[in-house]
Parts: sequence; structure tokens; C-alpha cells
Amino acid sequence: MIGAKTRFLAETWFLNQSYNHAMPKPRPLDPEAKPDDRVDNALRPQKLTDLIGQDQVKENLSILISAAKKRGEALDHVLFYGPPGLGKTTLAHVVANEMGVNVKVTAGPVIERAGDLAAILTNLRAGDVLFIDEVHRLGRAVEEVLYPAMEDFALDIVIGKGPSARSIRLKLPHFTVVGATTRLALVTAPLRARFGAVYRLDYYDIDAMQAIVKRAAGMLKVPVEESGIEEIARRARGTPRVALRLLRRVRDFAQVRADGNVTRQIAREALDLLAVDPLGLDDVDRRVLKTIIEKYNGGPVGLNTIAASISEEQDTIMDVVEPYLLQLGFLDRTPQGRVATKSAYEHLGFEWREEGQPRLL
Ligand code: ADP
Repeated sequence: MIGAKTRFLAETWFLNQSYNHAMPKPRPLDPEAKPDDRVDNALRPQKLTDLIGQDQVKENLSILISAAKKRGEALDHVLFYGPPGLGKTTLAHVVANEMGVNVKVTAGPVIERAGDLAAILTNLRAGDVLFIDEVHRLGRAVEEVLYPAMEDFALDIVIGKGPSARSIRLKLPHFTVVGATTRLALVTAPLRARFGAVYRLDYYDIDAMQAIVKRAAGMLKVPVEESGIEEIARRARGTPRVALRLLRRVRDFAQVRADGNVTRQIAREALDLLAVDPLGLDDVDRRVLKTIIEKYNGGPVGLNTIAASISEEQDTIMDVVEPYLLQLGFLDRTPQGRVATKSAYEHLGFEWREEGQPRLL
């Protein structure tokens, strides 16, 4: 027989668990696209010269594009990789605009069968850009069709079944695959080898972030002071998609709680209310660091252990939380596991001690 109190506790725990799973907390700093980010599509830079930051990628791309145009050829296949929200999709459109061609957009998980890809490929025209997002999630059979298409612009189709089956080769127009991935390591070696140019996108520096917020505020007609722009840019963890979302949230706050003008003070209040701290850390980032510091004495601790301790997906921690914490120098990756650094202790208000339990200051 279990007592009423135990049963009550068990039920409450169960309800909390189901509540947690059913209603994931919205994360203002999640760099993945959300439905209300659709409005940002209108803000997408169209030309290389409109693109802010990523100077090295821009310069390399402009050489690639000019050379292909001079020769009157289709652009070589291009692969962009880097954390979400940094502009991979935007760059694919910019490439197509600069080349003056059409762009067809698809994604790895959407192309389920080889036949789906064949249908897409046979509808392309010479020079067209085929943008494949999440290219690391293409199935094996689909990739097999993509290899000869990228290399020889040919499509091998098998007609018939059994002993009478025969393979015929269709010629495809010269087109360009622009691939995007957040996980370069998961792109198979043969696929990676077929991209003539591979570019890495990095987090934007503060100047570029400010320019991005300023440009978007201008286009959305949000009255914002320089200091307000700086505050938003600083807390957007180097990611344009996050910056644009924070700008919209701050604009709402300014309209409801003030006269609509975004000052530094208004931006601060709005972002504090969203639990975005001055360095751009949110609740999940802080929980990851706190777990390492409080439960595991600063580490090293394995990724799966951290994920289980805070009930978050390992993928979210690896793709979204860690890259930014590593960039800030708050986290180290060692062969034994993740380690919180001295700066992380200080930022969260813990006394730094190499050995022993952490203490809150
Ligand atoms: P990804 O494909 O890498 O997830 P997107 O290309 O969808 O990212 O970019 C997210 C948003 O950020 C877009 O709405 C775009 O307007 C904006 N953006 C991205 N890069 C830039 C940039 N360099 N300058 C201005 N805005 C940018």
C-alpha cells in the first residue's frame, strides 16, 4: 500500500513531467526558424553588397560568381555550414540573384525517395540553383542519385524489373547545388567532395550585429536610438535571426509599456523580461553551466549526462547552446567531457575554485 502523500507526490511529479513535455518553454534565443519569423523573409538581403558581415565568405563568393559569369557557365556547387540563423538560406538566394537565375528550395528530410529528387532535377533549367537545406539529412538512396547529377549532370534511371531491367542515362542541364548544414561532420565524404566551394559561416561580431539591427529597424520603421540598437545587438548571440526576433519583441514592449521609442533602458527592460541576460544567455544556457558547476564540480561531464540532468535534447545542447558558450569561453570540450571555465563561474556569480564544491558569492 502506498500512502496518500506518496501518491500525491507521484501524481504531481507525473503532471509536472507531462506539462514540461507538452508545453516546451518558448526560447527567445532559439536560432531555429519559428512561424513568426516569416516576416523576416521580406528583410532578406538580395545582393552581396546588401549582406552585412561575413566579409571573407562574401569576397570568395564574389570571385566565384564573377568568374562563372565571365565564362558564361553555371556556378560550381557551393556548401555553407555553420550554426542556424546565420544566413545560409539568405546566401543561397543571394547567389541565385547575383547569377540572375531561378532558385528551387528543398531540404534533406523532404526528399524521401530517389524518385522525388529525380522529379526535382528534371524540372531544373540551365544555371538554376537547387538549394538543399539540411543536406546532411539526405537518405542514402537519394544521395546515390545526386552524385552523378552533381558531377556529370546525368540522371541514371532503371526501367523495368528483374532480368529485363535496364538503366538509361538522362542528360541534365548544368545547374548549381547550394547545400546548407549545421553539421558538416554528418555530411558524407563523397557528397562533401562534390562541392567545389565550402564556406563556414561564423557568429557575427558586434559591429555587424548592430548594422543588421539598424537596417531591420529602418525597414520595419521602428524608432530606435543607437543605444537601444547596441543593447539588442549585444544580447542576440551573434545570430541575425535572433537579433531580428529580439527587435520585434522589444518593439512590442516599447509600444505597450512606453511611447514606442526604443531606448537603451526600454531594450534592457524588455530583454530582462525575456530572461535574456546581458551576454545573450538564456535559461537553458544558464542551466547547462549551473549543472556542470553545481552538480559536477565544474566537470568534466559528458554531454548525455548534462542533457539528462536538465531534460533537454542532446542535439539542442550541441547545436545551439554549446557553440555560443564555447565562443564566449565559458565552456571547454575535453576528451573526458565538458568543463566550465573560470569566466563561467564568474558570470554566474560562483566563486572560482579548481577543486571542491562551488560556492555562490
Ligand atoms: P539560416 O539559413 O542559416 O538558418 P537565414 O538565411 O534564414 O539563416 O537567416 C535568418 C535571418 O537573418 C533572415 O531573415 C535574414 O533576413 C537575416 N540575415 C541573415 N544574414 C544576414 C546578413 N548578413 N545581413 C542581414 N540580415 C541577415
